[in-house]
Amino acid sequence: MKLAILSGKGGTGKTTVSSNLAYITKNLLIDTDIEEPNSHIFLKPKDVETTPCFTHYPIVDNEKCNLCGKCGDFCRFNAIIPSRKKVLVFEESCHDCGGCEIICDCKAITYEKREIGNIFSGKTFFGSPMKYGKLNIGEMSGVKIIKDIYSKTKESNFIIDCPPGTSCTTVAAVEVADFAVIVTEPSPFGLSDMKLVVELLKDLKIPFGIIINKSLGDDKEIIDFSLENKISILGKIPFDKNIAKNYAKGEILSHINPKYKEIFKNILNEVKKYEI
Ligand code: SF4
Ligand code: SF4
Repeated sequence: MKLAILSGKGGTGKTTVSSNLAYITKNLLIDTDIEEPNSHIFLKPKDVETTPCFTHYPIVDNEKCNLCGKCGDFCRFNAIIPSRKKVLVFEESCHDCGGCEIICDCKAITYEKREIGNIFSGKTFFGSPMKYGKLNIGEMSGVKIIKDIYSKTKESNFIIDCPPGTSCTTVAAVEVADFAVIVTEPSPFGLSDMKLVVELLKDLKIPFGIIINKSLGDDKEIIDFSLENKISILGKIPFDKNIAKNYAKGEILSHINPKYKEIFKNILNEVKKYEI
């Protein structure tokens, strides 16, 4: 199973859940939060290999271009815009789809490549594989890094630590998943952020359940919403100041505390009910 872990915003406990599930299953963990990857702080990979990731962007030969405007009409990212005198290219906005070259009858478009980040892969301190991507500062989109990681992944079972929210990087990260877990906090803000992710997963037709982190026992807002919308609660992680202390030290809860190992094992058993 390809299992994606999501949250409506950062700091909700997404990495805590994904790193603990990776520890218990010993499956590959892929951290696709390319702007701020942090799973490696907990999984402490060794023998890390670094692979640069490139994207391509169009170069226009003004001698061949007749300013027909077709490339600009085609590009939905406004990365190539024909003006009255020449075609302007905004390379950071280009998503490397290759469409403008195909659409240009004058063969005026070629591509150049630019490094946008790196992919890191290694073995965690408990022996299983992990990968993560990191987008270079100033780059606008890390979708290419996520797609590159997946294209080089042979495993069929893995855990995905997704970017927070519902951006296009989140979509790129989650769209390969067989099942998704939304990690949320029991508060009005937690509920409001979670609703956006629920809509995203419904649109993508990916089955999902919820984990309530920092549970105070009642969790009324989240429970009511789940009942109304027929969404499974896969488990709860209780509010505990020690979790924050262990997080700050970069420790995996299941590795140091049998009580949490049991909690995450139970969550995993719930997830396995959806295995296809
Ligand atoms: S499609 Fe080709 S010829 Fe037409 S404006 Fe774009 S680059 Fe120029
Ligand atoms: S490659 Fe695709 S995204 Fe990039 S400028 Fe051309 S049409 Fe736009």
